Amino acid sequence: MCYNDYIMNKIIYVCTGTCKAEISEEQYNDGLTKCGGEGCTLKGHDFAKRLKCSECGAVYNEKETHSH
Ligand SMILES: [Zn+2]
Ligand SMILES: [Zn+2]
Repeated sequence: MCYNDYIMNKIIYVCTGTCKAEISEEQYNDGLTKCGGEGCTLKGHDFAKRLKCSECGAVYNEKETHSH
């Protein structure tokens, strides 16, 4: 029984364009779903869902496994 890896992962949303914006799940649920960064290569595109490790701050894809 080890749910530790799961607990320390926080859902975030990121822009994978040049602005590298990072928003919280709360902001995303409040309707901030698209990048609005001036000059960003992905302005107007949906943010991508990622997981963030609260221990080391690493951002990674849901399908990837992250360990220390
Ligand atoms: Zn952007
Ligand atoms: Zn980590």
